[in-house]
Amino acid sequence: MNLEILKQAVMDSRDGITISDNSLHDNPLVFVNPAFERMTGYSSEEITNINCRYLQNNDREQSELDIIHSAIEKGEYCLVTLRNYRKDGTMFWNELSISPIHDKNGIVTNFIGIQKDVTPRVIIQQQLREKNQSLEEMKTHFEQLSIKDGLTGIYNRRFFDTQLEIQWKIACRNGESLTLAMIDVDHFKAFNDIYGHQAGDEALRRVADSLNRSFQRGSDFAARYGGEEFVVLSSGMTQDQATLYTNTLCQRVRSLRIPHSASSTGYLTISIGFAVHTFATPNPFGMLLAQADKALYKAKGLGRNQSLSL
Ligand code: GH3
Ligand code: MG
Ligand code: MG
Repeated sequence: MNLEILKQAVMDSRDGITISDNSLHDNPLVFVNPAFERMTGYSSEEITNINCRYLQNNDREQSELDIIHSAIEKGEYCLVTLRNYRKDGTMFWNELSISPIHDKNGIVTNFIGIQKDVTPRVIIQQQLREKNQSLEEMKTHFEQLSIKDGLTGIYNRRFFDTQLEIQWKIACRNGESLTLAMIDVDHFKAFNDIYGHQAGDEALRRVADSLNRSFQRGSDFAARYGGEEFVVLSSGMTQDQATLYTNTLCQRVRSLRIPHSASSTGYLTISIGFAVHTFATPNPFGMLLAQADKALYKAKGLGRNQSLSL
């Protein structure tokens, strides 16, 4: 191959081509082609015979630099995309490959660098990544919206309805009990009338939070059933454990000490009706709801601020 033609190819290349001399101290560039001059804004005279690290400016915290250093040290090929800076200080993304040239003794004498300004591609990739990220965030947000209650942040009725059936089947299969507690805030209409709707909302948030912190098991959960009514679903409790547990829930809400002048205790309280089903004799899960609801009615009738089952 005619050497002149090869030289012409290098001079005409649209990619930046450089050659460094590894036998000289600090591996300086000894040749750069016109495309490299155009890409970086430096003239050949300015940048030959020195190491090309000025292309990084002070932006040296780039892991790609470690890859390059290690390749040079080992005399190996590498391909990286890193931030470089033109003479006028503007940044560009440089897709750089370096390849070692060996002499007949296997010693690395030179490195050939081939560089491409890939800034537009990298920017589009970054934008796509950001877009995907915000799409992901929106997706999670909407998923949360569809199962979480907007006011209290705990699960909503829709989630509860689907979970009741699922937990029921799991409990049946495992031969475990399932406890459903129906919870209703006492004299809440009066609370709103006395303290205002905003204070009412805040009270509901605090009650929800208190119920939501009260579980023993991972599969247990609280949901806002509607208005000032909540439910807690819990598996594996005996009737006695459920009695104890639901009494604790009443106690927890009392101990929030939310003042309520229309309440006999002076504080906001809840009433609970609960039902425990063991699966010795399978029942339709609708029974659980109906029984808990009836028991709640009973608890209200017997003076509120208490937990009862039928
Ligand atoms: P009881 O002890 O028998 O349960 O009496 P109650 O006043 O709590 O029952 P009632 O069903 O008559 O009233 C429920 C009240 O809950 C009426 C309604 O304004 C209020 N409420 C329902 N949802 C919300 C809400 O999201 N925010 C506020 N602030 N109040 C709510
Ligand atoms: Mg109610
Ligand atoms: Mg109520």
